[in-house]
Amino acid sequence: MCDVCVMNAVKDRMLSRRDLLRGGAAAGVAGAAGLAAVPAVADAHGSVFDMTHTYGPDFPTFFGEPGIALEQAFNFEENGFNLFNLTINEHTGTHIDAPLHFSEDGKSVDEIEVGNLVVPLCVIDIREKADADPDAQVTPDDLAAWIEVNGDIPDRSCVAMLSGWGDKVAEPAYRGADDAGGLHFPGFHPEATAMLLEQTSAAAMAVDTLSLDHGPSQDFATHYAWLPAGRYGIENLAGLEQMPPAGATLIVGAPKHAGGTGGPARILAMA
Ligand SMILES: [Zn+2]
Repeated sequence: MCDVCVMNAVKDRMLSRRDLLRGGAAAGVAGAAGLAAVPAVADAHGSVFDMTHTYGPDFPTFFGEPGIALEQAFNFEENGFNLFNLTINEHTGTHIDAPLHFSEDGKSVDEIEVGNLVVPLCVIDIREKADADPDAQVTPDDLAAWIEVNGDIPDRSCVAMLSGWGDKVAEPAYRGADDAGGLHFPGFHPEATAMLLEQTSAAAMAVDTLSLDHGPSQDFATHYAWLPAGRYGIENLAGLEQMPPAGATLIVGAPKHAGGTGGPARILAMA
């Protein structure tokens, strides 16, 4: 390395170190002012929406068993305070599918990068065909139609299926169980999943139904393609009908239990 090169290299390193320090200081300030900053962000979007179903033992689950049990460990009358112990199937209510859910050593839910938890929301509306066919799927044509109107799917987006199933959550039609034990609800077609994997950097896909794959799926091809690729899923997302097709920001309050394959999440949107 020539003298000038060495000097430049040292200067660059010092500059980047200074930027780093300055960035750290700025982050500290932002951290301290974090609470005050939140409403400003919300104002910029207009409103905050809850995209989360309230869930209890009655909330429908894929396997048909209650997904949560509450056991009162302390009660106000006897103990002066209330406290429940919860037993939860991770895949209950509005919840995350971490890559580990369908892969041997994919990221667990605590390992999902926070940068992938606050993301642009793209809403693919298939309500019309889902109305006619409960086994309807998001296809590459549906994605292409969205892109034609709204432009490319932004980096790190959450691409969400709006099938209208959110309204059926208290009805048997939400699982759509038939006499043979089969299920019927919409999901993502494996070809649409492949298109998102190949052509976008979408961080997540979301459905307003019980599963990323539609009800009749036996091979869970969408789960097996999407999750091992390091991307994550959201199931039973609520409130999509209130969202614009593009332009909203989704805030995914994923749980952080070590080694988890997913879990109930509080999900908000700013639109
Ligand atoms: Zn799940």
